[in-house]
Order: sequence, then structure tokens, then C-alpha cells
Amino acid sequence: MESIVEPKQVYTYQIMLNDIELLKQTYPFLVVEEIGMSVDKRKIIAVKIGNGSRPIMLNGAHHAREWMTTALLMHMLEYYCKTYTENQLDDLSIWFVPMVNPDGVTLVQEGVGQFAEKDFLLQLNENSIDFASWKANIRGVDLNRQYPVDWEHIDDYIRKPSKSMYKGPSPLSEPEARALYDFTILHQFHAVACYHSSGEEIFWKYKADGKLIEESLKLANQLVTATGYTLIDPGENPSGGGFTDWFLMKLKRPSFTMEIAPYVGPRPVPLEFYEEIWEKNKHVGLILGRNV
Ligand SMILES: [Zn+2]
Repeated sequence: MESIVEPKQVYTYQIMLNDIELLKQTYPFLVVEEIGMSVDKRKIIAVKIGNGSRPIMLNGAHHAREWMTTALLMHMLEYYCKTYTENQLDDLSIWFVPMVNPDGVTLVQEGVGQFAEKDFLLQLNENSIDFASWKANIRGVDLNRQYPVDWEHIDDYIRKPSKSMYKGPSPLSEPEARALYDFTILHQFHAVACYHSSGEEIFWKYKADGKLIEESLKLANQLVTATGYTLIDPGENPSGGGFTDWFLMKLKRPSFTMEIAPYVGPRPVPLEFYEEIWEKNKHVGLILGRNV
């Protein structure tokens, strides 16, 4: 059967929307939901496969330049649709939120042309029209420093909107982070993987302790076997505000930040890395979905 998702390209918001529509036509058992809207009114979409009672969630592209994670998750979704019959998916339930930051991704890929906030964005980008290094949303807030866990204590040497690292005026001030937060509270996921792109590492621990450590480490070791990535020890005093940090501490269930590529500097992961990343990550949804 032909594939719908072509992950090895500059994978845009529009391509994602088209692919989701085609996947839904081909695999009617998929559930597609709009979970919120970005600052610039792009839909934040979630897609579910399977009917199990213990849902997990995979999300990508909190950080704009890390859009390869969207292509990876869309590829994974199609691969599971193709490989398994509806019955074989009865025991698991996987939600995909492939692009948390659609405005930021669009800015990185297509530049500032279509944005009303052009002057503001150019100013934050030191007047360069090359937005390849942008991580934030289009208000200059880093969406993975927005979640309400130790937010006050994030090392906030950047105190105003910026292309990366600004934590925002308050937790969940940005609609994209708020959408994912509400969606997570509603579904009470049993585990989450947050896809990011730099370092071939897995963050899994934050300040977890006791049983949560045991449960998380069991899954983390399975992810290491699949990916070959390194588990990161957060040390004495990790900085908070990330989705994984929040989920671990507040929902008391496993969450993983997956960094899919070697460090390539402040830019999108080059497409030639894709095949290897795919081979390492294609089973991650199944590993989590079947073992929670
Ligand atoms: Zn990231």
C-alpha cells in the first residue's frame, strides 16, 4: 500500500493537516480532535489510535525549529494504522499531538511574511529574516517553560520575549501550552513522550521518587533498548517548567522527553538524519502503550 505521510521533507503545518485528513479517510477508526488554537489561530490537532482503557500521549514540536518531531510522529501514526488491524489495537490507546507550536514551525519554515506581528518577530530575531534557530511561539515564549511545576524557580535570566528560553509572564499564559495542559488533565494519560530534537537523550526523572521512579525506570530502560539514547540524571536542582517535569510531579506517572538527534547547533535537524531516527523511534508508542 502506498504511504500517505512523506516524513523526509520540510514537513509543514499544512502538509500535516492534509495528511491527517487522508489518514482519517483511509483509516476511519482514527479519532481526530481539535484541542485548541495557537496565538495566530492555527488549530492544534490530536489524533487517537486504538480503544484501550489506559491512554498514553505522544507530542511533538513544542519547539519551533524541532519540526522533524512532527514528521516522525505522523509517520509513526501511519505505520501503526498500516501494521495493525483495528482488533490488534484494542488493548492500547495512543494519542498523538504532532505539532504543539504550529505558528513557530511556520515561522521557521516559511519566514515572517504571513505574520501580522512581523516587526516584533524581526526585532526578536535580531533583524534577520532567517528564522531557522527560533524555538518559541510567536509571542516569544518558550512553550516548554510554561508548565506549572517549580515555574517560579526557572533560571530566568531571559526576562522578556525572545526566540528561545523566555518562560512567559505566568505559567500557561500561552494558548498552545494551555491546550496541551487541559487535554492532558482531561485524559489522565498513563504515560507521555514529549519529542524534542537535540542530544540523543531521554529525560525521565526530574524530582520523582519512590514507586514512580521504579515504574518510570522500567519503561525508560525499554526506550533505551529501542533507541540507544542516554538516560539523563537531572542532578540536584533541575530547572522546572517543562511538560515532562510537570506531568511526573503532578500526575505521578511516567513522562519522557525524547531528544532524537545528535546536537546539530541551533537549527532544524538535517533531513539526512531521518532514517536512523525513524528506526530508533518507530516502536516508542507501542512500548509505552502496551506497558502502562
Ligand atoms: Zn526542544
